[in-house]
Amino acid sequence: MSKIPSKNTKPELILRKALFSRGFRYRVNDRRLPGKPDIVLPKYKTIIFLHGCFWHRHEGCKYAYTPKTNTQFWIDKFNSNTERDKINAEKLTSMGWKILTVWECEIRHKYKHDIESLIDKIEEALLVNS
Ligand SMILES: [Zn+2]
Repeated sequence: MSKIPSKNTKPELILRKALFSRGFRYRVNDRRLPGKPDIVLPKYKTIIFLHGCFWHRHEGCKYAYTPKTNTQFWIDKFNSNTERDKINAEKLTSMGWKILTVWECEIRHKYKHDIESLIDKIEEALLVNS
């Protein structure tokens, strides 16, 4: 039997489900905002970016490795990704949005069996910000 990845194990869905069950209401992939943010919490004027460690270069993370072949291609690609992230973050900040970044490895590993602790952390940041 071929293994079809279950949608429910996707980090973004895990995070969204956990937020929702804690009473947070959000919009997803809002095209009206720079960078089409993954999760938008209008009530808190806050955006959550759920970043893949590889593509968005999670600093010091083992998933943010650089492939050994076509190395220059990858370096250029990563640089343009992180540059775009930076520009989007600056635009959003200047529009009055606060930004929280969650890394995929946090959901896949660090908080895998304790997603509530991650939500606690997010909630704390939202309350401090508002
Ligand atoms: Zn990571």
